[in-house]
Amino acid sequence: MSYNDQNIFSKILSGDAECVKVLENDFILAFMDVMPQSPGHTLVIPKYKTKDFLELPPKYFPHILDATQKIARSIKKVYSPSGVMILQLNGAEAGQTVFHLHFHIIQRAEGLNYQFHSSKVSDPEVLKKEAQKIIDNF
Ligand code: 5GP
Repeated sequence: MSYNDQNIFSKILSGDAECVKVLENDFILAFMDVMPQSPGHTLVIPKYKTKDFLELPPKYFPHILDATQKIARSIKKVYSPSGVMILQLNGAEAGQTVFHLHFHIIQRAEGLNYQFHSSKVSDPEVLKKEAQKIIDNF
């Protein structure tokens, strides 16, 4: 399967779909997951059209990792979870549902139950508040 420009993250990158932004530079965009597994669930994507990690040019590696670590540290400060999960899926068989490479940053703690995907779309105002807390703790 080749990269399909009609995927939702491609539309977010082109500005044709909205997102609640957390961090952006020339290489990456980070934004709130619209169906969070737990409060603060953030996604980091490269500004490079690839469906998965296997095809990502290495020049993006440091930018993705820097952003992921920065957001994970902020999530740790904001929510004080016992764990922070970094998740990245390649291919439908691996559970991937949106075919533009992305890294999930998800706080984990007892009582915050994790299912592979959530189907509950969050209120955008709630997402904006959570995004601001993360941004304020960079
Ligand atoms: P995957 O299963 O591909 O690793 O994760 C895709 C993620 O994208 C899911 O956690 C899902 O909630 C999220 N998602 C799906 N559609 C949208 C959308 O339109 N906007 C945002 N911000 N996240 C989305």
